[in-house]
Amino acid sequence: MINAIATKFRQLIAARKSPISYFDRHNHKNKTKRSIALYTCVGLVSAILALLLITSPGLAQKPEPQQSLKLQQPLLVATRVIPPFVLSNKGELSGFSIDLWRSIATQIGIESKLIEYSSVPELISAIKDNKVNLGIAAISITAEREQNFDFSLPIFASGLQIMVRNLESKNSAFPNILQLFFSTSLLQVIGVALVLIVIAAHIIWLSERNHKEGMISESYFPGIFKACWWAAATLATQADEMPKGVLGRFIAIVWMFIGVLFVAYFTASATTSLTVQQLQGDIRSIDDLPGKVVATTAGSTAATYLREHHISVLEVPKIEEAYKALQTKKADAVVFDAPVLLFYAANEGKGKVEIVGSILREESYGIILPNNSPYRKPINQALLNLKENGTYQSLYDKWFDPKNS
Ligand code: GLU
Repeated sequence: MINAIATKFRQLIAARKSPISYFDRHNHKNKTKRSIALYTCVGLVSAILALLLITSPGLAQKPEPQQSLKLQQPLLVATRVIPPFVLSNKGELSGFSIDLWRSIATQIGIESKLIEYSSVPELISAIKDNKVNLGIAAISITAEREQNFDFSLPIFASGLQIMVRNLESKNSAFPNILQLFFSTSLLQVIGVALVLIVIAAHIIWLSERNHKEGMISESYFPGIFKACWWAAATLATQADEMPKGVLGRFIAIVWMFIGVLFVAYFTASATTSLTVQQLQGDIRSIDDLPGKVVATTAGSTAATYLREHHISVLEVPKIEEAYKALQTKKADAVVFDAPVLLFYAANEGKGKVEIVGSILREESYGIILPNNSPYRKPINQALLNLKENGTYQSLYDKWFDPKNS
């Protein structure tokens, strides 16, 4: 009995599970469900395909900036010593740009490692070769650099200016005249004049000494003194007396002409000498630079500027070498970034150098990054925050306010 019931139950279950009988019984209902499922599947697949089309490959390859910031710590930051933006004390780096970078890194919440390069071109090629993530120093934003790199928002307003030796620029007319008095050319002129005066005095003494109304006494002394005085005064076109004898008068006329020529020659050479000194000593603007040797750093914007203006450039790796070239007179001037020159003139170069003329060309410094760097946006964001919260100003005051030096 129990077996019969069990067999019946199994048959019943088997019948219910059979797809045919299930289909038969729910044929209409299933048709509707299947089409709903089919449409849902097609819809889902198309949505996924559409999403993939829109987003790939760009987003699939590019990680979120925030993600990559976390991935690449510590960030490698290239820099170059250029006081007061970057100073090195036994390998310990400080300066405006270093302080600013540290504040930016703190704002973003990123670890970084500073790597020193010896020149801006070297720093730039390290960025090009992806050896570092970015660079900060006193790097000018230029159209040419912008072609191959990205820059942050400007971090400092700068510009090119001229620096000269202090002595030279302070040369007024007075020391120039003193120099002229002790110049060998003047001593030569005076020597020649003295010889001529002595010769002319003897001729005049000889021709006038026997004349009864003559201006010169018969005896050699003091007669020759009077003759020398007359010759000197006539040479300087200031004679107060004239010889009375015919020969004496003839000699006087010739001597007066020699005097006129001598004064003209002396005036001309003195004027030329003063003018030349004036030209050599006075560098006041870019117009005074052609023909001069101007020192600056290799590959800098200043070097490009000078070459564009056909001025001969002495390019050195470090700015300190340019200062040295100026002091040792290997260069007549230094053209470089105004804040760097002003810092030197106010510290080590105090009393030795002088900044002249106005800014030749305005430039702005920026943080240099490879093209499409994911760090640019967070850096700009941090920079703006630092400007808005006063940190930037306090760093500026720390390094550039004369009260703090
Ligand atoms: N502002 C200059 C430049 O970017 C600095 C050059 C240097 O540091 O030598 O070219």
